[in-house]
Amino acid sequence: MSVCETKFGSIEGTNEVVFKNKIKYDTLDIAIINAKKNNIRYGIGAPKVTAYKCAKCNKFHIGKNGNKITEKEYKKWLTELKSFR
Ligand SMILES: [Zn+2]
Repeated sequence: MSVCETKFGSIEGTNEVVFKNKIKYDTLDIAIINAKKNNIRYGIGAPKVTAYKCAKCNKFHIGKNGNKITEKEYKKWLTELKSFR
């Protein structure tokens, strides 16, 4: 099985890029819950992550989709996730 990596950042003062292994989720449902938890942790206006199926490993990952977290979404997720605790 191939390792799925994501660009994590770069080492300050160098051109070296750091990668980390993406977390793999077995089901889309679990990936979606974790995406929501992630978004709530970062809050309104932060880059939004969504769950997607990976073509490489056939598991699910979460990743940024270019949108930002809106206040409406944030409040909706917060209400939804209360039922998972
Ligand atoms: Zn993958």
